[in-house]
Amino acid sequence: MGLKDFFKNRQIKKAAKLQGQLIANGNGHDLKPEPSICDDQLCILWTKCLGCNELLYTSELKKNHSVCKHCGYHHRLSAQERIDLLTDYGSFLEIDENILPTDPLNFKDLKPYQDRLKDAEKTSGSKEAIVTGIGTINNQPIAIGAMEFQYIGGSMGSVVGEKIVRLIERAIEKRLPVILVSSSGGARMHEGILSLMQMAKTSSALKKLHEEKLLYVSLLTEPTFGGVTASFSMLGDIIMAEPKARIGFAGRRVIEETIRQKLPKDFQTAEYLLENGQIDLVMARESLKQSISDLIRLHSQNVKPKNEIRSFSRMPLFARV
Ligand SMILES: [Zn+2]
Repeated sequence: MGLKDFFKNRQIKKAAKLQGQLIANGNGHDLKPEPSICDDQLCILWTKCLGCNELLYTSELKKNHSVCKHCGYHHRLSAQERIDLLTDYGSFLEIDENILPTDPLNFKDLKPYQDRLKDAEKTSGSKEAIVTGIGTINNQPIAIGAMEFQYIGGSMGSVVGEKIVRLIERAIEKRLPVILVSSSGGARMHEGILSLMQMAKTSSALKKLHEEKLLYVSLLTEPTFGGVTASFSMLGDIIMAEPKARIGFAGRRVIEETIRQKLPKDFQTAEYLLENGQIDLVMARESLKQSISDLIRLHSQNVKPKNEIRSFSRMPLFARV
């Protein structure tokens, strides 16, 4: 018997039992059928693990930061959940939340871009594909941005680029380290060349941050692809990733068809990139906050004032955790 059938049967039995009691009391006509558990409610109660297919209690999964207790699979987090995970409770203050997307190309594919934006806001609860702000991590002030994959696949349009640049400028002004958490399918094609221009825009802002000798930690999460990988995601002083996160530029199938070769099974995974020297760390979610906080503390102790030789660049922290 499947899980849904189990719940439905239990509801029917309970309703029948209640009906029997009410009839016995002589007021059976007052019986109102008990509402059955619909599919949506089942989905709220249970989550199927994408790693091992085990059915997990959603509340238990959330308590474990959406990491499966059976296989360690790291499920996606929303931007807000990510910020809650990394910042101290109550310390986060969102900035630039009122920068909203427009439709400069009057773009339409299966449906108008304007409608797509409205739907994305409804499903994700976010006004754009990134949330940025200032907060603290173990009492150290930081500028942080987390991408929202539920919002059109976390795609980078003009607003995402603008919010990242403003966050970096704020960080330079206040002398704060920057943490950016990527989860994206790439540039937002609905905005055409304007979305691709965000790659150069965010990269040049990060160059200024680098010249100011401020730390930038880039955290790559499942999935990070396209123009996001090809710009700010891979420009971190420290580049970290979550276990088994898929990271790449073009998709696996496109590459295989282009080069006409079979790619390794673990191609474009965080572990593969670590082994090939493209990222610095693969870190389990439960250790992320402490590790990033340690890196910031270490950097603040070693950083020299502007115009002196930078004593801290990439650290020898090549380890799988
Ligand atoms: Zn699992």
